[in-house]
Amino acid sequence: MRNTAWLRRALHAFDMIYFEGQLQDRGVDIKWFRPQPAKESFLYGQVILPGGPIMLNTVLAHDWVPTKIVLATIHHEALHVLLGEEHSPYFELMEKQLPYYAEVQLLENDLQSRLMQAPRPYVRDVR
Ligand SMILES: [Zn+2]
Repeated sequence: MRNTAWLRRALHAFDMIYFEGQLQDRGVDIKWFRPQPAKESFLYGQVILPGGPIMLNTVLAHDWVPTKIVLATIHHEALHVLLGEEHSPYFELMEKQLPYYAEVQLLENDLQSRLMQAPRPYVRDVR
């Protein structure tokens, strides 16, 4: 299972590659959360604005969830920290900088029902 240290390493790597260290400069943190069970669509993550923290659904800690899905979620929420709440055309353009963006859309479609029905680990179990 992926833990918080894994999340922080991934966030840091994106920060260096795409965001020129802006997340680190702003002290943005990342952690797991355990939302209510999904009803209509799976909630991958969310972010408290302004400034974070970024929070990822503990379901994404399962090893069977493709790493690219987890990384794309971190990237998406990091963009919210830097660009605000709205999914503007510029936001969407930045999101597509991720080389595997299109692949992730397909993976998410395939896994939607499994993600919604998956066991939901407690935060203490992914720490
Ligand atoms: Zn969003």
